[in-house]
Amino acid sequence: MSILVVIEQSNGGVHRMSREALAAGQALGRDLDLPVSALLLGDDTSCLSHSLESIQLDEILQAEHPLLRNYSSDGFSQALAQVIESESPQYVIAGHTYMVRDFFPRVSAKLNVPFLADNIAYRADGGSLTLIKQIFAAKLVADVVPAGGRCIISFQSAAFQEEDVVSGPGATVREVAISLEESAIRADSEEPFQEAAGAVDLSSAEVIVSVGRGIGKEENLPVAKELAEAIGAELASSRPVVDAGWLEAYHQIGSSGQTVAPKLYFALGISGAIQHVVGMKGSKNIILINKDSEAPLFELADYGVVGDLLEIVPKLTDALRA
Ligand SMILES: Cc1cc2nc3c(=O)[nH]c(=O)nc-3n(C[C@H](O)[C@H](O)[C@H](O)COP(=O)(O)OP(=O)(O)OC[C@H]3O[C@@H](n4cnc5c(N)ncnc54)[C@H](O)[C@@H]3O)c2cc1C
Repeated sequence: MSILVVIEQSNGGVHRMSREALAAGQALGRDLDLPVSALLLGDDTSCLSHSLESIQLDEILQAEHPLLRNYSSDGFSQALAQVIESESPQYVIAGHTYMVRDFFPRVSAKLNVPFLADNIAYRADGGSLTLIKQIFAAKLVADVVPAGGRCIISFQSAAFQEEDVVSGPGATVREVAISLEESAIRADSEEPFQEAAGAVDLSSAEVIVSVGRGIGKEENLPVAKELAEAIGAELASSRPVVDAGWLEAYHQIGSSGQTVAPKLYFALGISGAIQHVVGMKGSKNIILINKDSEAPLFELADYGVVGDLLEIVPKLTDALRA
């Protein structure tokens, strides 16, 4: 029995959510006393395997093939299914990225193995695994117990912290043979989502300025944009701002938007509804400016200012620029 963590590449390095998945895999490995390996899929994964060298792993597996040069759900699902069949891991773990959402269900169907997706945590009681997952727009939390046997698992962004990845001596790197036919790759991928849409992948942003309904009107948005520029942050929002058409949908954080885990989340005029909080609660530091001292987000905030954001933010931006 073993754990296999599937690593995703992002801008030539290891995707942040794959590092979080490594933290999850290592923790589960410790709790269930199972060896943990990482799997790299691609045409040349040597760069990625170098970046895993200092991580405590039993093995780094490379499944390389020219047809994996560009991502395709056909190619990646076939490759992963073959690796799972040859390596027989008990648990296959990954971050719940766009790519994983796309190709893991195919692996699950091909192998007739359950895909337990988008979990926020797990419990390992007496050697058995329970996954914890939010349901009904995060109004309820469900315990999901795998039926036994193999299962494929993804964890939500920020469910685990990349800082918790345990370092160790270099793991051995081993190639795993896979065979792919060109005719089986039925679709080409377009450019990654954020580039195609002209948007930003907020899930990898380190600093975010997020605007809520408290901004009042579209004409006030420059107040937030200027703060974002001053501190090198990406701009995000709660849903009412998107619903009003003041910002594009890809700015939305929350249960029906993006999930983020920046080092700093600057919330301006956001109340803290659960549907928003589920998308940003993994932020390392949260600063809230809200004129209502009873706003629920103050409970989560590391720093809070009770006041009018339209008065405070311009002064703060000027001070930060000075
Ligand atoms: C199925 C479903 C899915 C949803 N998905 C999402 C989602 O993905 N993301 C999301 O964000 N929401 C989502 N929502 C909506 C969510 O329930 C809340 O309505 C929303 O998050 C509230 O956004 P808000 O905090 O900006 O607005 P409000 O709750 O209206 O809060 C505005 C805040 O601004 C403060 N304020 C007002 N003026 C000022 C000022 N001048 N200075 C400082 N503070 C001021 C107020 O005190 C208030 O706390 C969803 C709802 C449903 C039902």
